Amino acid sequence: MGLLSLGTPLPWEEARKHADHVRKHGIIQFLNIWNRIKTRRKDHLLWGDEIEYVVVHYDEENKQPRVSLRAHDVLEKLQALEMDAIAKGEVFESSWKPEYGRYMLEGTPGLPYGYTLEDTLAVEESMRRRRELATSLLPPNEAVLTMTNFPLLGSCGFTEPSATATPDSGPSMSLFIPSEAINPHARFPTLTANIRERRGSKVSINMPIFKDKNTPSPWKEPAPSCLARSSTKSLSTAVAAGCSNGEVKATEQAAKSLDQEHLPSLPDLVPDALPDHIYMDAMCFGMGCCCLQVTFQACSVEEARLLYDQLAVVTPIMMALSAGAPIFRGYLADVDCRWNVISGSVDDRTVEERGLKPLDHSRFRIQKSRYDSISNYLSPGPNYSGGCSLSPDLAKIPVEQLSSIPSKGMEFYKDQYNDLNCPYDPKIYEQLREGGVDDLLAKHYAHLFIRDPLVVFKELLDQNDELSSDHFENIQSTNWQTMRFKPPPPSAPHIGWRVEFRSMEIQLTDTENAAFAVFVVLLVRAILSFDLNLYIPLSKVDENMQRAHSRDAVHREKFWFRRQVVGDPQRKLSELGCKCKGSTNQTVAQAIHGEGYVNGVANRDDPDAFDEMTLDEIMNGKPSTNFLGLVNLVRRYLKTHSEAIKEETRAKLDTYVDIVSRKASGDLQTGATWLRNFVTSHPEYKQDSVVSKKIAYDLCKAVEGLAGKKVKGLNC
Ligand code: GLU
Ligand code: MG
Repeated sequence: MGLLSLGTPLPWEEARKHADHVRKHGIIQFLNIWNRIKTRRKDHLLWGDEIEYVVVHYDEENKQPRVSLRAHDVLEKLQALEMDAIAKGEVFESSWKPEYGRYMLEGTPGLPYGYTLEDTLAVEESMRRRRELATSLLPPNEAVLTMTNFPLLGSCGFTEPSATATPDSGPSMSLFIPSEAINPHARFPTLTANIRERRGSKVSINMPIFKDKNTPSPWKEPAPSCLARSSTKSLSTAVAAGCSNGEVKATEQAAKSLDQEHLPSLPDLVPDALPDHIYMDAMCFGMGCCCLQVTFQACSVEEARLLYDQLAVVTPIMMALSAGAPIFRGYLADVDCRWNVISGSVDDRTVEERGLKPLDHSRFRIQKSRYDSISNYLSPGPNYSGGCSLSPDLAKIPVEQLSSIPSKGMEFYKDQYNDLNCPYDPKIYEQLREGGVDDLLAKHYAHLFIRDPLVVFKELLDQNDELSSDHFENIQSTNWQTMRFKPPPPSAPHIGWRVEFRSMEIQLTDTENAAFAVFVVLLVRAILSFDLNLYIPLSKVDENMQRAHSRDAVHREKFWFRRQVVGDPQRKLSELGCKCKGSTNQTVAQAIHGEGYVNGVANRDDPDAFDEMTLDEIMNGKPSTNFLGLVNLVRRYLKTHSEAIKEETRAKLDTYVDIVSRKASGDLQTGATWLRNFVTSHPEYKQDSVVSKKIAYDLCKAVEGLAGKKVKGLNC
């Protein structure tokens, strides 16, 4: 979830005093990197995936699953294996990082995957090996699951060993999450406490309940029985302290009634808890979820910026297709995705920043949480490096003169797409402009830098800004957006400019995780090869992000998407460097639409037009408007490159593309639908939205059983 630093973390009241220092030096650190490598070119599109896991413990006697807090010890063992290999000068097959939950693991391949299509196929085996390795370190009654959210997270007794929530103390002061569930590394409890303190209250998350036949309406969740065990005093203080709208209506009386037979409902007890919603009050509910991220190294800064923009449009689409989170705190939700939960779980904005009070102490009115969709397109930007082309003509041009030549894809960007009007820090903007950064990139960072650093380590306040990027990363990596534009760390001269695709939910099986990762990789190739233009206004991307949460979005939603995505349909494939046979005079449009294509671009009057389409149409095409769909573009890309790859490679890649295509058509279920159906068809389910311990136990066992398999309706 970000880089870890070590030292003594400052409590919020201290940390806040250093915010300007961290911001100022963070930008100096960025400028040092920028000026050193803005003209750098890399040839290779290396990439890597990150998988987050939940470690589950089964209480076989009571048929109850719990999250295993011992995952943290497993992580230490995995890291020790990695360190041993490094000490011997070897590369370990995988790399392991801590995540927010003490019950979580995060694994990546030991080295990035190579740039050839053959290299791409290494991903599934790497994922399988990671799961196997982590599993080999667990006792027999524990398992590593790739499940977006543990279904009972935050319900009574959900940890092993057992731990109790402390609503009047600890980093999150949660009614439901004990401090022991949080990774003990100083960064995580400090982040938790400082978010709460900066905000001025606990975080407050309400996700709509799924109303089934026997779910009361309005639904008011009965206060969980374990709350009654919190002492009345601590509970009422906690409820009062935790209330995020400042209006304290909880009373000793309400808290006392917890002792009685009829527990009050959560909405009656906690002002933030809304009827008809599942209420959550801690960072763990979001950051304790698991996702699949993919990071690419672009060949130049221009290409990284181009991919950042083009992929940003695709983030809600891929989130909806990868949906995997229909259950929160033991209840079926009326959403299928985690994103809004995480967004709320780290929302450190003050009441003034949220627009609930006029600005007095805070500097900006801020529309979004730190965990949210992107707020600015970057555009490929001025030409600093001559792009990736190694053409001798460009190589002759001195670097200072390159900026007069537009960089590839720059013509697609229009200011009207950046329609969110997000705030940015004018001082930071000036600092960046004076340092030689162009307007859009300066605005991007001046926007990210409206945030305060949340975790400040006393020992790391003064740094050598030439050698360190710690202050920069402090702010950059606590802006958890759908895409991340990543400069390399100063200590890693071999790394180039990267972008991270961050919206996807983790899949239940390795095959699906591989399919989603490979699809995004191939889409990147198609975007670059065919000069795709996916731009739509960011306000529409944001609407898509909300729609992507919908239960069964594949069948029930439409999304904004551009009708005409081929940037220059008449461009010759050979100009794009395509070496495929007979391509010299073949245009991109012909390659994409087929030989018979003349000039039938959809909506020639307004090439910028966008439309509402189903996921099936966006992915598999909409013949009535000549829209080919992203899957078919990827297939065309594979076709134009098939001579260069072995037949088996092509066949395997096709299988992955087919999985994503069939998820979009509804032929294969999303993980969320599979999980939801498992619950609703369980004999113990009472059509009341409740996911009982036994149902959750059977569900986790079933999910464990899927991992390495071909599962009809899910991945084949
Ligand atoms: N676990 C978070 C998620 O589900 C991601 C944290 C990270 O940035 O690694 O999106
Ligand atoms: Mg992570």
